[in-house]
Amino acid sequence: MQTVKIPVSIDPLRAAQSCLDFQGTVLGKQLKRLNELCAGDCSNVSVSLECGVDIQGIVYLKGKAVTELTLECQRCMTPYNTEVTVDFCFSPCKTQAEIDELPEAYDPIECNEIGEIRLHQLIEDELITAMPLIPMHDDKSCHQGSKDVVVGEIKVVQEEEKPNPFAVLEKLKSK
Ligand SMILES: [Zn+2]
Repeated sequence: MQTVKIPVSIDPLRAAQSCLDFQGTVLGKQLKRLNELCAGDCSNVSVSLECGVDIQGIVYLKGKAVTELTLECQRCMTPYNTEVTVDFCFSPCKTQAEIDELPEAYDPIECNEIGEIRLHQLIEDELITAMPLIPMHDDKSCHQGSKDVVVGEIKVVQEEEKPNPFAVLEKLKSK
């Protein structure tokens, strides 16, 4: 697998035929729309991308993008950092019929006039969609604390937050 700068656009058919895999970064400063939505500069985005053709002959672009964003807490109005991760699995489609036939595991993606996908734009769109609707600190790190939580409810919230031993095991397994 090559470590590279993730190409701005890609021909999905050609990439799939040559089974290209990418592991690389998209510079945060290049993602202008994402920067505008954040309270600070975006960190670089780590991207892994696998291009291929599945057993049904469907061309796919499958991958993951991870970055850290600075957002403004809507409760105490101070900036904080949070990690945003997106997993995606796209398949290029030209017609509505192709979109209709696409298995649920894939999201249809339209190619531009020269048959390419704008990869940076796509990753940026995905990250924007994955941003929290109302950015907020965890209760314990917020300068406003959990003042707005009704006293009677605090106990319930704390009980729910006890780490589940199975969840911890799952995490270890997936490493
Ligand atoms: Zn806060």
